[in-house]
Amino acid sequence: MENQKVLENINLVKQEVITACTNSINAKLKRIDNVKIIAVTKRQPLERIIAALNAGHKVYGENQVQESLRKWPNLKKKYKNIELHLLGPLQSNKAKEAIQIFDVIQTVDREKIAKVLKKEEEIIQKKLFYMIQINTGEESQKSGVMPNETDNFVNYCRNDLKLNIQGLMCIPPINEDATIHFAYLRKKAEEFKLPYLSMGMSEDYKDAIHFGATHIRVGTAIFGKRPEK
Ligand SMILES: *Cc1c(COP(=O)(O)O)cnc(C)c1O
Repeated sequence: MENQKVLENINLVKQEVITACTNSINAKLKRIDNVKIIAVTKRQPLERIIAALNAGHKVYGENQVQESLRKWPNLKKKYKNIELHLLGPLQSNKAKEAIQIFDVIQTVDREKIAKVLKKEEEIIQKKLFYMIQINTGEESQKSGVMPNETDNFVNYCRNDLKLNIQGLMCIPPINEDATIHFAYLRKKAEEFKLPYLSMGMSEDYKDAIHFGATHIRVGTAIFGKRPEK
């Protein structure tokens, strides 16, 4: 894919986000600046990422710590005010590095990792903000806290650990109507009075916005198909 195309795609997605916000039945979402477009760069060639950076895009997402460490320290030095989100599962032995490179970790989903994050934050004196991933489809192969354990886990992270939890994230099962999952996540976020909802990817971000997404995670619609592993 040509670099020029990356810029066109970013503008296209922005337009679609504006349209979705304008048409949203939820009045509080009618402002475009209520939705952050996270450009998902996992496995994308560096030229495409640089094209987005040169176009002035600031918010990016990755799903592996190791891959992020290969690319982002340099890019963050060169391009200022980048906000980098971790979107993939986190192992506790990678927590220290994750805290150093990421600004937001969206995939907090178990006590062990929450504790390690707290400890590492204190060691390096950096406060991130976090989202809790909910496994809304209760899929065995997927990470995320199970719906029936969500209340306890959110309370534990907030009250016991005092982690800065700002929102919820989900990845609905493929081949299922995602909007059921979006609606569930929104209801949960309202219960907990959490402001952020990370949901919606290239295929369904417009629906997600109608259901109140504040963070959409868009990879292929911006950068094109990812090369095979
Ligand atoms: C890869 C990925 C995305 C982006 O998916 P696209 O379909 O390419 O938009 C979004 N969220 C997560 C968690 C991902 O791993």
